[in-house]
Amino acid sequence: MGYVMPIVLTHFISGIFVTTLLFLKYRNTIQSRMLWFGFPFLFIIPDIDHLIYWQPSMLASIFPQSLADLVAGIFAPRPPSLLHNWYIPLALFSVGIFLFKIYPKKMHLIFFLFAIAWGTHMLLDGVMLW
Ligand SMILES: [Zn+2]
Repeated sequence: MGYVMPIVLTHFISGIFVTTLLFLKYRNTIQSRMLWFGFPFLFIIPDIDHLIYWQPSMLASIFPQSLADLVAGIFAPRPPSLLHNWYIPLALFSVGIFLFKIYPKKMHLIFFLFAIAWGTHMLLDGVMLW
């Protein structure tokens, strides 16, 4: 560890922000309320890998102790780890493209949204390519 990373709440707020932007543009294409309400939660999923080395002190990395905690560690470069890896949003995006080619309904959109959520998380965490 040793790297200061954005806290989970920061990722969730970024998720609400990106979801709002996408909703304004795509609300007529994607009408599933469940998907729109669930979307901000996808932005915190990469942090599941922290559970592997979980310690009670890490509760502090979910909710802020101060306002400064909300912006701490944003874009600070760090090497990739298990789920913090650019291969994952790339794979999700590739599956989306593939689904769009073989079955151009709306299923692929879910993979694109998931790729956007994961990629945004990687960006905020400053995850490097290797
Ligand atoms: Zn993270």
